[in-house]
Amino acid sequence: MHLSELVGLRPVPCAGLLLTLTRRCPLSCAHCSTSSTREGEEPGAARLRRFVGSFTAEDRPELVMLTGGEPLLLPELAAELAATARTVGTRSALLSGMFFARDGRIPDRIMRAITAVDHFSASLDVHHEREVPRAGVFRAMHRVLDAGIPVSFHLTGTGEDDPYLAGLTAEIRREFADRAPMLVNRVRPLGRAASWAAASAVVSAARPGAGPDPGRALPCAMAAWPVVAFDGTVLACCNQQAVDGRPVPEHLRLGHLAEDDWAAVRRRSLASPVLRMIRTVGPSHLYARYAAGGCADPGSAAPGSAAPGYCSGCRRLSDHPEVVAGATRDASGALGELLDQLSAARQTAAGPVELVRRHGGGRHAALVALSGPPPSPGSGSGP
Ligand code: SF4
Ligand code: SF4
Repeated sequence: MHLSELVGLRPVPCAGLLLTLTRRCPLSCAHCSTSSTREGEEPGAARLRRFVGSFTAEDRPELVMLTGGEPLLLPELAAELAATARTVGTRSALLSGMFFARDGRIPDRIMRAITAVDHFSASLDVHHEREVPRAGVFRAMHRVLDAGIPVSFHLTGTGEDDPYLAGLTAEIRREFADRAPMLVNRVRPLGRAASWAAASAVVSAARPGAGPDPGRALPCAMAAWPVVAFDGTVLACCNQQAVDGRPVPEHLRLGHLAEDDWAAVRRRSLASPVLRMIRTVGPSHLYARYAAGGCADPGSAAPGSAAPGYCSGCRRLSDHPEVVAGATRDASGALGELLDQLSAARQTAAGPVELVRRHGGGRHAALVALSGPPPSPGSGSGP
């Protein structure tokens, strides 16, 4: 499965599921805000097995993303969940910080997990490189490619003009002959779960240089896929503060592994009028449309950047009952369902590059679609 196909599913409600296997991680990246340590919490293998086992051929996500912390601290569980998902047609992907790859080698039990999934991604940025050398990550990624598993890199930098990013993306293109697409994002205090698949819920103004317009419709594709957090809570999005904070805002809570199966979580996500509106027009537009006096929530229009306020305004929606009531009134019925579907179809039609661009990928967005040189007869998969 190519990265662009995976990202292309991102706006489709319940086409994917982000599954946190553990909050533990042996690395200590400076920018990690999941508080990942060697002792972090886990949802529990039995609950994860039960939840993935509740997928059916008729009711399942297209893709399950195994994440953390570091999911490869539980390689047997990762392989088992991927195999279970595959029995009903769900594909899988896994994102790793590559803790095992300092010397470029991949231990056998980790390799078995990597070859059990349909796509493998490595995180790489200036903070990760202090923990695991780039050369070791590259050697390991060559081995994964040679095993026939599509790979990608998830990179972060300070912005699209970051010289570190320019150098790293150029080196990856050379090293892997464009067979390793990249998802590039700005460094912000995010952990692993929030970094998956178009990484941030930061929605950029589509017009270059345009400032945030709180009244403008800016759909949040990040509200499309349920996220299983480290404690088994199931949320509507991967915003790190929502994933880590408790209690979870009511409109962003979809259930818990202890009591819910996939069908229940999917039903809640698809039927929620507030989530439909967040996916269709975004939280800033909801404030502009329904807040008392027609004012946008101050937090939803932070000067110079739509980013922090966009999500903080969303998390505070329950403090504004008139906004929730307006969204519920307008998006509860068949029309709300239809708008949700049309919004997803429009974003899907725009393609993965545009989606990544809108969610903060900037000029590096096109790297998500790299697919390598055309295969020549008899060529192997090596560089
Ligand atoms: S950023 Fe990722 S690899 Fe680094 S410590 Fe956090 S979870 Fe581990
Ligand atoms: S907090 Fe709201 S706007 Fe931010 S990613 Fe989650 S659903 Fe989207």
